Amino acid sequence: MSTMTLKTLRDAPGDAETASHRLLVRAGYVRRAAAGMWTWLPLGKRVLDNVARVVREEMDAIGGQEVQLPALLPREVYEASGRAEEYGDLLFRLTDRKGAAFVLGPTHEELFALVAQEQMTSYRDLPAILYQIQTKYRDEARPRSGVLRGREFQMKDSYSFDVDDKGLAASYELHRGAYQRIFDRLGLDYRICSAISGAMGGSESEEFLAPAAAGEDTFADCPACGFAANTEAVRTTVAPADGSAHGPLEEIDTPGTPTIETLAARLGVPASATLKNLLVTVDGEITAVGVPGDREVDLGKLAELLAPAQVALVTAEDFATRPDLVRGYVGPQGLAGVRYLADPRIAPGTAWVTGANRPDTHARNVVCGRDFEVDAYLDVVVVRDGDPCPACGGGLRLGRAIEVGHIFRLGRKYTDACRFDVLGRDGRPARVTMGSYGIGVSRTVAALAEQTADDKGLCWPREVAPADVHVVAAGKAVQTQAALALAERLAESGLRVIVDDRPLSPGVKFTDAELIGVPRILVVGRRIGEGIVELRDRRTGTSTELPETDAVQRLW
Ligand code: ATP
Ligand code: MG
Ligand code: MG
Ligand code: MG
Repeated sequence: MSTMTLKTLRDAPGDAETASHRLLVRAGYVRRAAAGMWTWLPLGKRVLDNVARVVREEMDAIGGQEVQLPALLPREVYEASGRAEEYGDLLFRLTDRKGAAFVLGPTHEELFALVAQEQMTSYRDLPAILYQIQTKYRDEARPRSGVLRGREFQMKDSYSFDVDDKGLAASYELHRGAYQRIFDRLGLDYRICSAISGAMGGSESEEFLAPAAAGEDTFADCPACGFAANTEAVRTTVAPADGSAHGPLEEIDTPGTPTIETLAARLGVPASATLKNLLVTVDGEITAVGVPGDREVDLGKLAELLAPAQVALVTAEDFATRPDLVRGYVGPQGLAGVRYLADPRIAPGTAWVTGANRPDTHARNVVCGRDFEVDAYLDVVVVRDGDPCPACGGGLRLGRAIEVGHIFRLGRKYTDACRFDVLGRDGRPARVTMGSYGIGVSRTVAALAEQTADDKGLCWPREVAPADVHVVAAGKAVQTQAALALAERLAESGLRVIVDDRPLSPGVKFTDAELIGVPRILVVGRRIGEGIVELRDRRTGTSTELPETDAVQRLW
């Protein structure tokens, strides 16, 4: 440690809201370079690489082939797939000196489909799994919580290519298993949650959620039967179109209600457009309708507005990949009730007010199809603690969690876009079907920190810790010499060792060792003259004395 580039801090940065942010900075693992951009210092890089190693080993074990695609990508590819528009402001865009348009890759479905199309021509070339561990770029609206939500971050993304649905199902299962082994090995507590289950039933994707207060996702789990789902997926009620379950349309005075134009301004609705009217339901009740004609609503901003009312929202990405959410209605003017959901006068989750095509009014009991029509349909669900579990009827428990992984049965969206066929078994062309699978490698470091840290500092599971043992020389030159010699022997045996040989007081060193969070701390102190050292367990704080000569064996 006397030669390591490491400076621990007594105080956390003022803007740090989460334990992982505070502790990773204080313990000298990461430093902020700019909003949402982080430098990984020596200790942090070790942990990041450890996570990546486990991911790599388990991906290789299911037959994944590691490749490396560029992060700087021609924009036309994202325009062809429609995602340049879908991602909107999330996409970092740039141009080269000749004016050609590029993006920094937020994820790589398009490019992988193109690579595979070149490489795979016959069913004999399939199935195949390609993956990379790479820096991704997303211009997140609110980069926060340190490396939990960066604008530049590390992701493992993999893509499966199969000739039929059965093949895709098998590739998906392989990934699901690999992800379980990865997160088990990393020592992460996680739940596998269906992310959205469509009106047709069945789920297209599953998220790996790590329970933690700092998480931005809400999930529901059922202690009785083990059911777990992102709250977005627990209910998918579709409002009855005939209005049978609703009362008559009523108009009510609601002073201060904005017109749809003010609302649109508040939503920051971009002028470019595909959606006309947007319908939002909460618990199957229509609550919000509309964006003014020929504008596109920014669902991310809508989600922000809805957040105070604790309404979970299907994300823009989900929306884009869920054709069943988009209906072919053509509407008159839009109505808007969004502001009402976010209005502090309305209890969280309340969902009975909607509509506003006139200032200072809302409409109650609005029914789609009877009172208006929409051309886009967004199903929003509210789930409350204790709601019945859809699987067994037991009481659901709500919790916060961090999305660390996401696996997706993509199907033929991207292969259709580039007409990616291979020669089928029957000699006819077969359209390839894809899966895509992500793990937030850098985010997983923060998720582990969130789940394992205590009031003294970080406290890593062994597999990811920056070292197997942290040797502290507590005393004078004698102790330092003995500690260095012992560290040498431990390292020769194959253990990863940090040794604190700095000329500092034992108290300062113990505090730093606890902050840094290597699971075992070996203290070379007063009794070294008798050949005795002390082994401390970082998590439990228990300590045992042992002969120095037993150290290698005890630590293996
Ligand atoms: P979120 O809901 O948190 O914004 P996402 O659903 O947009 O994440 P995916 O597109 O599913 O993310 O990407 C795969 C994985 O990449 C996520 O499960 C997450 O672990 C990680 N990830 C996504 N965005 C970020 C980010 N801004 N910083 C760090 N990791 C991220
Ligand atoms: Mg996102
Ligand atoms: Mg997500
Ligand atoms: Mg996701």
